[in-house]
Amino acid sequence: MAPADNPFQIAQRQLDAAAERLGLDAALHELLRWPLRELHVTLPVKMDDGRTQVFHGFRVQYNDARGPCKGGIRYHPDETIDTVRALAAWMTWKTAVSDIPLGGGKGGVICNPKAMSQGELERLSRAYVRQVGRLLGDDMDVPAPDVYTTPQIMAWMMDEYEFMHGGRHRPGVITGKPIPVGGSLGRADATARGGCCIVREAAAALGIQTEGATVAIQGFGNAGQYAALLAEQLLGCSVLAVSDTSGGIINREGMPAEALVKHKLDTGAVAGFPGSEPISNEALLELPVDVLFPAALENVITGGNAPKIKARISCELANGPQTPEADEILHRNGVFFIPDFLANAGGVVASYFEMVQNLSSYYWSADRANEELDGKMTRAFHEVYECARAEDTHMRMAAYMVAVQRVAEAVQLRGWV
Ligand code: NAD
Repeated sequence: MAPADNPFQIAQRQLDAAAERLGLDAALHELLRWPLRELHVTLPVKMDDGRTQVFHGFRVQYNDARGPCKGGIRYHPDETIDTVRALAAWMTWKTAVSDIPLGGGKGGVICNPKAMSQGELERLSRAYVRQVGRLLGDDMDVPAPDVYTTPQIMAWMMDEYEFMHGGRHRPGVITGKPIPVGGSLGRADATARGGCCIVREAAAALGIQTEGATVAIQGFGNAGQYAALLAEQLLGCSVLAVSDTSGGIINREGMPAEALVKHKLDTGAVAGFPGSEPISNEALLELPVDVLFPAALENVITGGNAPKIKARISCELANGPQTPEADEILHRNGVFFIPDFLANAGGVVASYFEMVQNLSSYYWSADRANEELDGKMTRAFHEVYECARAEDTHMRMAAYMVAVQRVAEAVQLRGWV
């Protein structure tokens, strides 16, 4: 992987810029540039045809100064240790910026889950926990679902972990579980809901009315679909354009979100929604809407198209949708962008609430979960916004400054540096 594309080197460079601006002590800065611990595991799994296949996986505990590590487990054929390290670093900043008492971690297994049966996936998931379980615990490191891992996989992993611990119930060891085995209400839509809370606050700060505001959404999966539904329901916005891998659609009069989601679930694509016209994914990003939700892929807003972005607010539900070059251009052009690790923190905040409920063995209503989420996201937005204004910088740099400062303070108070 070329150094410029190496996600871990990108994560280190982002930290370096914030550390310089914060005037961080050299040893403290060096400590924050690296994972505290990482475990590499080798997993023999009996396949359905009788063969044993050997898989490789990782668990990275980036920093736990503020609390147990938190972060998902990915199953992907192209997984690398540097991707997992980078994602673990970003989780550290995400838990810190949303001010939940957790650190950052991430895990991954190199595998192709699309080519595996449910039985093979279960045996792989249990094998992973048998190796990594010695580092997990609700007081140590708490995984969650991520790319190609599901609530069912979380249930198998929790079950295996509990077997390893004498059958004692430990539901807080993992989040994103199905509701009957300790999952939390409100988690399914938490990422988009958190993003909508932040858009509401950003719009108020910028003097933009959300009632009737126009919205474009790139990516119509979990994050994008709930963003459409909730932007309409909670904020009174009108969804003008959406897209997925099959292309985009637009209707300048607006499209009802529920009908759009139904069309996507029925047909597998947004294309062909009644009353809409086709639009390319590139053109969708350049629409003069009030709110843009990049909710698909990384690196879609770059130095090349940044000068053409006309949205007033861009709320990054996707991870890494915008390059550093584009940050500067959008900031100069007055496009108010909300960085991924703040904009999509609703998912990890809901995971934290799931842990809290598991540890207290008392389960909240959906209303309570949503209300608590709103409180956390609103506070996080204002802390970062105040920093951006005080430092005369954009929201990504401000979010880094707030997050890194919090982790640095915990490291120093513990006497590590
Ligand atoms: P998903 O797989 O459910 O949906 C992804 C969507 O993007 C699909 O509709 C797909 O068709 C579309 N897509 C893929 N390539 C595209 C392209 N080139 N152009 C337009 N659309 C394209 O995934 P998700 O869970 O919705 O996650 C989307 C993004 O949000 C990812 O970056 C993910 O890391 C981030 N995210 C999601 C959550 C969550 O809770 N779901 C939490 C944090 C961050």
